[in-house]
Amino acid sequence: MHGENFLPTTSASQQECLFCDFANGKQGPPPVLEVQTDEYVIFKDKSPAATYHYLAIPKQHFDSFNALNKSHIGLVLRMESGMVELLKSKNVDPSKAIIGFHIPPFISVKHLHLHGIYPPSEMSIWNRINFMSSFWFKTARDANEALELREL
Ligand SMILES: [Zn+2]
Ligand SMILES: [Zn+2]
Repeated sequence: MHGENFLPTTSASQQECLFCDFANGKQGPPPVLEVQTDEYVIFKDKSPAATYHYLAIPKQHFDSFNALNKSHIGLVLRMESGMVELLKSKNVDPSKAIIGFHIPPFISVKHLHLHGIYPPSEMSIWNRINFMSSFWFKTARDANEALELREL
């Protein structure tokens, strides 16, 4: 009833996107970047759902997974493989991790982010629901299948 609902929607511009700042190294204090490429960065989630919980975000701003189409499959694949490699470097078996995207309106931050979480056994009931494969959370594989069907 209060707060954010009353903010004019025009104020939520890209210039004020915290994740854009993180990805492009503007303003501080940014999170420690575990991985940094020309296209995306990966850092630890600030409220982790388990011991290992990372977010991969593109440097380019997309509101969410719904802003992507077929032409972004390569980007998504590279973000995924960056996540997989990071998990391996932490001695985590990526096939046992949860890797995927939230689907609007079930998103907490309006900048595309890929979650990588391990181990699922540490997650609260709420987080198990929040990150289970569903219409609000797409695993990386489902994400790519969905993009295949989205024309440019
Ligand atoms: Zn952004
Ligand atoms: Zn999310």
